[in-house]
Amino acid sequence: MSIKNNLIEIEKNICLACERSKRNRNEVALVAVSKNNPPEKIKIAYDNGLRIFGENRVQELIAKIDLLPDDIEWHMIGHLQRNKVKYIVGRVSLIHSVDSFKLAETISKEAIKKGIIQDILIEINVSGEESKHGIASKEAYELVREVSYLPGVRIKGLMTIAPLSEDSEANRPHFAKLKHLSVDIPNKNIDNNNIGDLKVLSMGMTGDYAVAIEEGASLIRLGTGVFK
Ligand SMILES: *Cc1c(COP(=O)(O)O)cnc(C)c1O
Repeated sequence: MSIKNNLIEIEKNICLACERSKRNRNEVALVAVSKNNPPEKIKIAYDNGLRIFGENRVQELIAKIDLLPDDIEWHMIGHLQRNKVKYIVGRVSLIHSVDSFKLAETISKEAIKKGIIQDILIEINVSGEESKHGIASKEAYELVREVSYLPGVRIKGLMTIAPLSEDSEANRPHFAKLKHLSVDIPNKNIDNNNIGDLKVLSMGMTGDYAVAIEEGASLIRLGTGVFK
C-alpha cells in the first residue's frame, strides 16, 4: 500500500465513524505518528495534505522539525522527561503527555522564559494498566486543577493510550471514560479558574480509531495506518 492509498482508506473510515456517531468530519483531526519514519516518507504524507505530525522522542522530533516544512504542526505524544522540556517548548504546538505537576511546572517555566504559553494535554491512564504512563483517573481532577494555575501552560484537553488489543471494541469503555472525565472535570471546577472546557480528546490509534471517534475523539494518533 502507498501512503496515498492509506490516507484514502483512513479518510473513508473517519467519515463513516463520524456518520455513525452523528459528528461533523471537521471535529476530528488526524495526527500522523511519524516516529521511526524518515523525513522523506513524512514529506510524502505532507504532500498528500497532512499537516499534523506526532513524535514520541525529543531528539528525533527536533531533528525532523529542522528538515521539514515550517507549516507542519508538531505534536509531542510520548513520555517526556523534565530535562528535555527545554528543547521542545515553543517548537511543538501541543504536548499530549503531561502526567505530573512537576512536568507541567517545568514546561510552564520554560514557556515563560520564551515568552509563550504552551498548549498541553493531560495524559490519563483510564484503563489502569500498570505499564502505562499517565495519571490515574481518580487523580485527574486534582492534577488539572493544580496545573491550571500555572501561567505558562494552557490545558486544551485530555489524552489516553488505550491497551493494545485485537478487538477494538474492548477499548470503547476506556474512550468513553476519557470523554466522561473531560465533561466531569470542568463541571467540578469550584475555583472558577482557567481550566477551560477540555475540548480536545486525543485517543485512538490504528487499531481502534473508529471506535475512539464514535466515543468523542478529536485527535486520533495513527502511525502504522498511515506509514505501513
Ligand atoms: C506509536 C504511537 C501511536 C501510533 O500507533 P499505531 O498503532 O502505529 O497507530 C499513537 N500514540 C502513541 C502515544 C504512540 O507512541
